[in-house]
Amino acid sequence: MKNSAITTTVLVTGGSGYLGLQCVLQLLKEGYTVKTTIRSLAKKAEIIQSLKAGGITSFDKLSFIEADLTKDDNWAEAVRDCTYVLHVASPFPAIDPEDENELIVPARDGSLRVLNAARDAGVKRVVLTSSFAAIGYSRSPKDYVFTEKDWTDPNTPGLRPYLKSKTIAERAAWDFIEKEGGQMELTVINPVGIFGPVPGGNYSASMEFALKGLLNGDIKETPNFTFNIVDVRDTADLHLVAMTHPAAKGERFLAASEGAVSIYDIAELIRKERPLCAANIAGLKPISADMYVHMSTEKARTVLGWKPRSKETTLLETIDALK
Ligand code: NAP
Repeated sequence: MKNSAITTTVLVTGGSGYLGLQCVLQLLKEGYTVKTTIRSLAKKAEIIQSLKAGGITSFDKLSFIEADLTKDDNWAEAVRDCTYVLHVASPFPAIDPEDENELIVPARDGSLRVLNAARDAGVKRVVLTSSFAAIGYSRSPKDYVFTEKDWTDPNTPGLRPYLKSKTIAERAAWDFIEKEGGQMELTVINPVGIFGPVPGGNYSASMEFALKGLLNGDIKETPNFTFNIVDVRDTADLHLVAMTHPAAKGERFLAASEGAVSIYDIAELIRKERPLCAANIAGLKPISADMYVHMSTEKARTVLGWKPRSKETTLLETIDALK
């Protein structure tokens, strides 16, 4: 337990989510007092069950507030007495809505609601969960290494609603801090696809798509793209480090383990390392090397001393948990 944590209160938005729950878990383990917002208090019992499965035995330091990103209600109460806010909540559906505003409005206006309330309450720093979605979707990955300097252009033709929502929300957050943030600090984490086991087994849309579909045999051809992977435990850890590290102020950090994978690569890893799980996997083919996305995570490693697990470890531990 960290000494500084004992008297420090942190708000995590979206404690019901895959990453939000892991942030709550790690903060409680470090001794912080944690407040978390959920859209419905009906989810409280399920969250407590998951935290128990994660090793939490006392819940004196955890409280829940009902708040929705699309409404003003309760945000002032949520941020009250908080030194830090981890703003993790944002819509992340498995299927794109017909109207992109179903994602853009809660992502952008929700971030602004959280930032406004946090500034008014004297919060020291907000750590916003953005995404690689806000970095790498406006140019071909061929012969290019993405870094935190890159931005997705929200006007890129055909940009999917989720990618647009994360880009617009992150831009809005930086604009807010520059023009209206006062003394409050902002740090942004840009994770790639988040995988990894979580207590309670509440997985996210990316996991449902890539792993369950593959293991069930529903994915019959290798989709013509690759993606990078970051472990949910390492992503939460990066949020916690970025929350207090002086050098994280005003910075964005790409969160990824080394190297991209295609669905074919994951299938081959499962065949080799977990052959008993490979029975339903279809006969897939590799895709062109030109489709592999390259990125540098030097910044998080050197500035914050972050050391993520390998993608193979994350994928295999996820598969073991799904079994
Ligand atoms: P998730 O499990 O779907 O969690 C999303 C969270 O946001 C849930 O707690 C959800 O609450 C909450 N939320 C959605 N709409 C809301 C609204 N209108 N008002 C209040 N809360 C709302 O997804 P996740 O993977 O943990 O995602 C967490 C964050 O990481 C998001 O910002 C996402 O964009 C980002 N991210 C995720 C990945 C990934 O691969 N998973 C990669 C990069 C970035 P309910 O439980 O009520 O729905």
